[in-house]
Amino acid sequence: MQTEKLYYQDAYLTECKAKILKTEQHSNQEWAIILDRTVFYPEGGGQPCDLGLIDNIPVHKVLERGGRIIHITNELPQQEYVDMKIDWDRRFDYMQQHSGEHILSWAFVNLMKANNIGFHLNNNITYIDVDVEAVSEQQIKEVEAAANKIVFSNLPVISRFVEQDQVQNFSLRKQLAKEYEQIRIVEIKHSDCCPCGGTHVNYTGEIGLIKICSVERKNKATRVYFVCGGRALTDYQHKNTTANFLSRELTVPAADISAAYCRQTQRWEEMSRQMAELRKEIHRYIGRELIAQAEFIKDTCVISKIFVDMTVKDGADLAKRLVTEANTIVMFAFVDTNKNTANLIFACSDNIAADMNAQLRQVLPLISGKGGGTPHYAQGGAANSSNINEAIEQAKINIKTLVGQ
Ligand SMILES: [Zn+2]
Repeated sequence: MQTEKLYYQDAYLTECKAKILKTEQHSNQEWAIILDRTVFYPEGGGQPCDLGLIDNIPVHKVLERGGRIIHITNELPQQEYVDMKIDWDRRFDYMQQHSGEHILSWAFVNLMKANNIGFHLNNNITYIDVDVEAVSEQQIKEVEAAANKIVFSNLPVISRFVEQDQVQNFSLRKQLAKEYEQIRIVEIKHSDCCPCGGTHVNYTGEIGLIKICSVERKNKATRVYFVCGGRALTDYQHKNTTANFLSRELTVPAADISAAYCRQTQRWEEMSRQMAELRKEIHRYIGRELIAQAEFIKDTCVISKIFVDMTVKDGADLAKRLVTEANTIVMFAFVDTNKNTANLIFACSDNIAADMNAQLRQVLPLISGKGGGTPHYAQGGAANSSNINEAIEQAKINIKTLVGQ
């Protein structure tokens, strides 16, 4: 009980009538339908299966088992004779990608002696793996040029079944792993000739543009991502939109975007360096102000301050700078008015015996905060900034008591 595979007779056939030969439960909620003929291509050879309708019932998977094509649905048709229709947009997209894959694989062998050792095709991504460790930009251009020359020549794509003893008459790019009674050979004039069970366009012009998008090293091979036809158009539209946007933003022609980006990056790095210098200068200025306002207990300089909307990182840099001087204790609070959060940083010079971690932990409960650190540097934070004044005032009292002893 074999299914007549109409997609091999005509890959452009989108619908047909067929007779149901058998139905059976496939899984819990799925049915398997076997018919005398079908336009549905099953998954195989790297090409995903067709989707479509049998008497308006969606077919969501198609498999081949021993020459029978099994259509998987969630319900059974009521009639013995049914109407079948495939999702043509999906099929033609796969025909474009799959036919393009033949030509691209041929071009890699022809120009680089790089053999196709893997092929993947799904809704979003198409790639082949070729058995070379690297492919240069120049080689990509040459492979693309050779592949698209075949497309532009609009050559016929001929599929035929041949007997095993006839195979030697064809110069195949890829040999079969095992012997078959009949072998389907797909031949594109002046380029690829390969055993294949998939669906293909009739003329190479229908493939449209073949474009390699990127390559990446994959163990000792190279993975080549590419798009053909409709996908190449979508890809070009997207990249053109992006290029036009960047061209407007950078006020340069599209061809100069890369150079303009490099110039912008250099400018940004220079500005970052200048900002870092300015930040250091501001810290020196704030530091002098803070020391002028500091309290001296015995010979210890106690600096405390609540900063509003200064970053904790800047505050940490400032605190660390101040305690490079001996006999200095720093107690900073930072209030973020946007997030209404608060942070504390307590730090002291190396020669100070007071434990900043212990001091911080004493006041953290006042702000329901968490944190910790070392005897010379401790940092904590709280989800809201209420009570931050009390926390700093209490910390000052504690330090004065400790240092004054
Ligand atoms: Zn094929």
